[in-house]
Amino acid sequence: MLHLTDVSHVYANGTRALDRVTLSIPRGMFGLLGPNGAGKSTLMRTIATLQTPTEGAIRFGDVDVIAQPELLRRSLGYLPQDFGVYPRVSAYDMLDHMAVLKGVTSAADRRTTVETLLHQVNLWSVRKKALAGFSGGMRQRFGIAQALIGNPALIIVDEPTAGLDPEERNRFLNLLAEIGENVVVILSTHIVEDVADLCPRMAVLADGRVRLEGAPLELIQATRGRIWSKVMDRGELAACRARHEVLSTRLFAGRTVVHVLSERDPGDGFASVDAGLQEVYFSTLAHARRAA
Ligand code: ADP
Repeated sequence: MLHLTDVSHVYANGTRALDRVTLSIPRGMFGLLGPNGAGKSTLMRTIATLQTPTEGAIRFGDVDVIAQPELLRRSLGYLPQDFGVYPRVSAYDMLDHMAVLKGVTSAADRRTTVETLLHQVNLWSVRKKALAGFSGGMRQRFGIAQALIGNPALIIVDEPTAGLDPEERNRFLNLLAEIGENVVVILSTHIVEDVADLCPRMAVLADGRVRLEGAPLELIQATRGRIWSKVMDRGELAACRARHEVLSTRLFAGRTVVHVLSERDPGDGFASVDAGLQEVYFSTLAHARRAA
């Protein structure tokens, strides 16, 4: 279990990127959902001990993460948002090199580790290919392989599906689901479907604060009866925005489908609809904006 208590971070320029974040994250996949600029990467880097928060406490099991970052690092696998370097080195050699850095010193152990991981992430057939020539999806799967070296108990993946095509994304999420059962996996993303598909628990972060936390299914049930929908012409949208709390708009067959948030029937021909996680997320953000 990972516990964060009142974790805040203020950057040197005065930006308060995290504001008293308190979360308890159990084993399994945990989705951290938030728009760009919410503070997700700051939080991921803080948990990964790459930066120290201005305030607050972080514990992972018995480890005080802020006082003993080196202990946490031994059980950490981290896939950063931007993995950065894609050298003209083969996937096999790079993984082997990274295993050395992670302390797998015996050549025999390393061979087993590297070969197992390349099979697990389905890159065995391209193990001799240079990373520089890998597709986005292959790079992310390589990123997971390096994060898994040394059997980490805590895995952090920061916005891993951005830029992947649907097939690559699917493959990547399936891979995450496989490893996610016995360890703590934190998946940070701005893509609602990533969380809906994978995570039994989640939190929404906006402006550095936790705005919502729970099980997606329960959160969806809690919004029952508060989401209303209507199909209209584009020209009617401005008037609708003036009268209602618009959560989302999308085009369907040339007309606009509008979802609004309302505690009771908003009239105007709106009909109640079953909400999904998208509506839960948008209504949480709308609430956060109103509170700001
Ligand atoms: P997210 O990952 O959710 O997009 P970030 O953690 O990257 O959010 O950013 C949160 C806020 O902190 C943003 O306002 C961002 O501009 C700011 N920020 C991030 N990194 C730095 C930094 N190194 N210096 C100053 N401000 C930063």
